[in-house]
Amino acid sequence: MTDSLRPSMKLPEGRKKVLLHSCCAPCSGEVMEAMVASGIEFDIFFYNPNIHPVKEYEIRKQENIRFAEQHGIGFIDADYDMDNWFDRIKGLENEPERGERCTVCFDMRFERTALYAYEHGYDTITSSLGISRWKDMNQINGSGERAAARYEDLIYWTYNWRKHGGSQRMIEISKREQFYQQEYCGCVYSLRDTNRHRRAQGRERIKIGVKYYGREESLTDTGSST
Ligand code: SF4
Repeated sequence: MTDSLRPSMKLPEGRKKVLLHSCCAPCSGEVMEAMVASGIEFDIFFYNPNIHPVKEYEIRKQENIRFAEQHGIGFIDADYDMDNWFDRIKGLENEPERGERCTVCFDMRFERTALYAYEHGYDTITSSLGISRWKDMNQINGSGERAAARYEDLIYWTYNWRKHGGSQRMIEISKREQFYQQEYCGCVYSLRDTNRHRRAQGRERIKIGVKYYGREESLTDTGSST
């Protein structure tokens, strides 16, 4: 573990308590351990109605709960209101990843995170989504800041979790914990598009629930976060 590279972090503007939107255990593992190491008070907010099918959703959530319990971190299990998600995404089904559909998806998840934070005494929200190299950090930060701006005295913390060895530790922790390794971003459209891409390469379709970090020789972040 490259702990020596992990910097001690401080919340911006003297903030006290974070609600961490988590998309999955592999992405949030390093974020959680970094905040624990810096003595930052936080809880996890799991709100990801984008994840399809429900079997995949449950695996990702249970992996995250397992890791939160290991560290004694509070875990808020929010709604799986996928009908609302599909309503919001309507018309954007064929957008590419990192396009407009993803902005709407992030907006929806962060709006709920911000509301919960505001109602329950958190002064800061942030997300594990940005640690994945598959994601556009500016797009995520924009959604996070828009959501936080709805409430007085709430901010979105735009810390770059990939830096100072964060990306490497994300893989190390995932392998150490043998986290489930998702192979697509999360929604039914990302599953469709990833399978199309695999078919074009002559590869097998994604099989849900079979791939775990550390049970093979992969050292790279081959999956993608939600
Ligand atoms: S590709 Fe990922 S971020 Fe984009 S809409 Fe689907 S689940 Fe959301």
